[in-house]
Amino acid sequence: MTRELWRSNVTQLKPYIPGKAIEEVKRELGLEDVIRLASNENPYGPSPKAVEAMQKALLESQLYPEATSGELREKLGALYNLGTDQFLVANGADNIITLVGTAYINPSDEIIYCTPTFAAYETITLLMGGIPVAVPLNEDYTYNLEGILASTNEKTKLIFICNPNNPTGTIVEDDKLEAFLKQVPPHVIVVLDEAYVEFIGREEYRTGVDFVKAGYQVMFIRTFSKLYGLAGTRIGYVAARKEYIEPVQAVREPFAANRMAHAGALAALDDEAYKNKSLQENKREMAKLMKEFQSFGYHVTESYANFLFVDMKEDVIQLSQALMQEGILIRPCAAWGLKTHARITVGTPQQNERLIEALQKVNQKLTTT
Ligand SMILES: *Cc1c(COP(=O)(O)O)cnc(C)c1O
Repeated sequence: MTRELWRSNVTQLKPYIPGKAIEEVKRELGLEDVIRLASNENPYGPSPKAVEAMQKALLESQLYPEATSGELREKLGALYNLGTDQFLVANGADNIITLVGTAYINPSDEIIYCTPTFAAYETITLLMGGIPVAVPLNEDYTYNLEGILASTNEKTKLIFICNPNNPTGTIVEDDKLEAFLKQVPPHVIVVLDEAYVEFIGREEYRTGVDFVKAGYQVMFIRTFSKLYGLAGTRIGYVAARKEYIEPVQAVREPFAANRMAHAGALAALDDEAYKNKSLQENKREMAKLMKEFQSFGYHVTESYANFLFVDMKEDVIQLSQALMQEGILIRPCAAWGLKTHARITVGTPQQNERLIEALQKVNQKLTTT
């Protein structure tokens, strides 16, 4: 009944179903030890330096945070050799996507991205009354840039490119991306979602930083939630040429990133040891997991992130429920219409071993019953 009162665009939104919380599963199933390999969190916890800085910041919780996020923007500017005024910080990359959409999407503007991908691009497009144009990924699950160009017209406003792509872990080769950017018409902005970009780990690979510097019509979005282990803290940013940031600034709420988040992000950026360890462990453990999965007969897509996109060749909803009974959460890809695929975060060595053992146990059960 009251649904009639809702703004009409809101009625079109599909509810986002987040991964089950660890606390929830413990309570519901009476389990003591539950691990989540479903949300691409850093399994090593936050940087101790970030924790220390956040604890200090807690003592000043009565004060509003710096509205401009000036200190963090300066640090980012110095880090990437871009201007301080080319950055905007907010309450996580998700919030940034919402702000970018709010700033740019007029009713009936067309917004293009590939599917399966991160759901937030569709959500904000629908919310603003824009038209989502979803182009299927290529057969190898990489972003279909030719398809995007073919769908681009005078109504196109934004193109989202998730690189590496969630949930497939695939990347766009940088020379292909540059060739694509050269062909994008001048009234279109390309938004690169680089939530996992640090995991790519190729020396010469060019990212949003390089493409902004080269003057292309791009914005790039990053987060402290994945490599930096601050998903619970909520902080992320977008960078572009200054003119592109202006309208996003206009719709950002004044205190969109909190005091603890600023402190944590600043400290995390400096913690090279934590970053290097996270990257090294991820690389090694991902290779190990990939082999194990292949030995089960699963198909694993080569990943450049901290998760694997796995075709388990059976109903993953059922399998993930069986794994949940063992205290392990993975992400079925059913919401993307992929019934036999899962997205599995690379955990610590112990967590991954537990996953493999649980899979062996569950598979035995499923085949003997
Ligand atoms: C996790 C993720 C985000 C959201 O990150 P937050 O900063 O935690 O909001 C954005 N984009 C992609 C592709 C992600 O996987």
